[in-house]
Amino acid sequence: MSLPTSLDLKQSCEVFGISQFRGNQETIIKHVLSNKHTLVLMPTGMGKSLCYQIPALILPGTCVVISPLIALMKDQVAALQSKAVPTTFINSSLGKKERLDRYEKLKSGEYKIVYISPERFQKKEFLDALRGINISLLAIDEAHCISQWGHDFRPDYTKVAWFREILGSPTTIALTATASKRVQGDIITQLGFPKEEIQIFDNGLFRPNLKLSVKDCFDSESKYKTILDDLNQSKGASIIYFSLIGELEKFSHFLDTKNKRHFSYHGKLSPDQRNKIQSLFLKSEEGLLLATNAFGMGIDKPNIRNIYHAQISGSIESYYQEIGRAGRDGHPSDCRLYYCQDDLSVQMEFIEWQNPDVLYLKKLFHTLVQKQTELPSLDYETLQSYMTYKNKGDHRIQTALSLLASKGLISGDIERGTLQIESTWSDSIFSESELLDKKKENQKRLYQTVLYTKTQDCRRKFIHEYFDSPFEICGNCDLCLGRIRD
Ligand code: ADP
Ligand code: MG
Repeated sequence: MSLPTSLDLKQSCEVFGISQFRGNQETIIKHVLSNKHTLVLMPTGMGKSLCYQIPALILPGTCVVISPLIALMKDQVAALQSKAVPTTFINSSLGKKERLDRYEKLKSGEYKIVYISPERFQKKEFLDALRGINISLLAIDEAHCISQWGHDFRPDYTKVAWFREILGSPTTIALTATASKRVQGDIITQLGFPKEEIQIFDNGLFRPNLKLSVKDCFDSESKYKTILDDLNQSKGASIIYFSLIGELEKFSHFLDTKNKRHFSYHGKLSPDQRNKIQSLFLKSEEGLLLATNAFGMGIDKPNIRNIYHAQISGSIESYYQEIGRAGRDGHPSDCRLYYCQDDLSVQMEFIEWQNPDVLYLKKLFHTLVQKQTELPSLDYETLQSYMTYKNKGDHRIQTALSLLASKGLISGDIERGTLQIESTWSDSIFSESELLDKKKENQKRLYQTVLYTKTQDCRRKFIHEYFDSPFEICGNCDLCLGRIRD
C-alpha cells in the first residue's frame, strides 16, 4: 500500500481516520498550508502531531520534524508507516549502515516525514543528505526545550535557528504543551523570528476532566499510607511520580510488603528493561507504575485514570505536563499531589545541580583539557572524582557539560566516548549574572509550585493564572468540591 503523491485536506484526514478536528487544529493546518510560521500551544494528548503531519502530506516535498523524544520516534514512525505514510527517523540508535541507507532514501525524496533528534541534525552527513531536496516544512516538537526559561532546556535545541537557516528558512511550526508567556517569547526569539512573522495559536490549558487535589502529609510514613489507601479505592491505570529514584525504591518496597503489584520505571534501569516496562504498562487496564520524570513525555495512553505525585515537582510547567497524561480519553481522572515539606529540599538540591556557577564550569573545562587523552574512555564517575567537589551526590556535571557544549567549547557525548575539546576558555563566555538569573528563576518556579499546594481559592484558577491563560470555570478541584475526606 502506498499513498498517492498529492493529497487534499479531506484525503489526508482519511489517512489518519479523523472525522472531526479538535480545538483549532483546522485553523492551524490551514495557516501552515498558507506557508505562515506558527507556534502551537495545545494540551498534551489533544493532537499536536496532526498539525504538522497533515500539512506534510499535502505539501510537496519532505517535512523535517525535530523531536527530543528518541525513545518514541520508532513508535511514531511505525504508526505513520501503518497508515502508508513514507516516514523515517534518524537518531543515535541506528547503526551506520542503516543510517546511510536512510540518508540515500532521504536524498531521493522518498520520505514525506523525517524525524530527527537534536544532536543528529547538526551532523554534516545529515545536512548533506538534505541538500537539494525540497523541504516542505520544519516542525519543532516540544519547542519549550529551546528556552532556558522553560522547564526542560536542551542545549542542542539552541542550534535549531542555525539549522533552519541551512534548510533555506522553510515554513516552520513549533509545538509545545506548556509555555508561559516568557517561554513563548523566548521560543520565537530563539528561532530568529521577528514577532510579527509568527502567529501563536493557544488552545488553552483547559482539561475539565482532570480532578485536581493536594494532600498535606506530615512525613513519609503517613504519606505512604495515604497513597496506599487512595490506590486501594481507585480504579484504572495509575502513575505515581517521584523526584528521587531512592524514594521510588523505598515506596516500591513498601508496596511489596503490602502485596500490591506494580511496575517501576527510572533511569537506573537498562533501556531494554525500560522499554519492556513501558509497553507492559501501556497495554494494561489496571497497571500501577512508579516512575521518575524519565517516564512519560510523548506517551499516548488514553486511559490513565490516576496521576499521583508522591513528591512535589520543581515547577508548575512540569507538574501540568505530567498530569496532562491522565484522562486523554476525556473520562474523569484524578491528579493528586502529596505535599510533604521535607520533599522541598530535594527540589532545592536539584536547582543547585542544574545551575553550576562560572567557577565550576571553568574548572570542569580545564579538567577536560588536562585529561584530553583520556576523553574517549572517560565516564561520569571518573570525571566527577577529578572534580572532587563537596559531595558524591553532586550531579552538576551533566548540566555543566551541556552548557560547555552550548557555547561550542566541547562537542560529542561522554557516554559514547566522543567528547572533544573544540575551543579555548575565555572568562567572557559565561555571564555570572545570567547564570544567577536562571537559578533565581528556577527558585521562583519551585516557590510557585508550593503556592499551588497552599492556595485556598481554586487549583485550576491558580494554574491558569500562572500560565496567563483564559479561565472560566473549574468545579473539579478539591477546593471547589470541598476537601476530599481523608
Ligand atoms: P500531543 O502531541 O498533543 O500530546 P498527539 O499528537 O500525540 O498529542 O495525539 C494524541 C492522540 O490523539 C493520537 O492518538 C492522535 O491520533 C489523536 N488525535 C489527534 N487529533 C485527533 C482528532 N481530531 N480526532 C481524533 N483523534 C485525534
Ligand atoms: Mg506530541
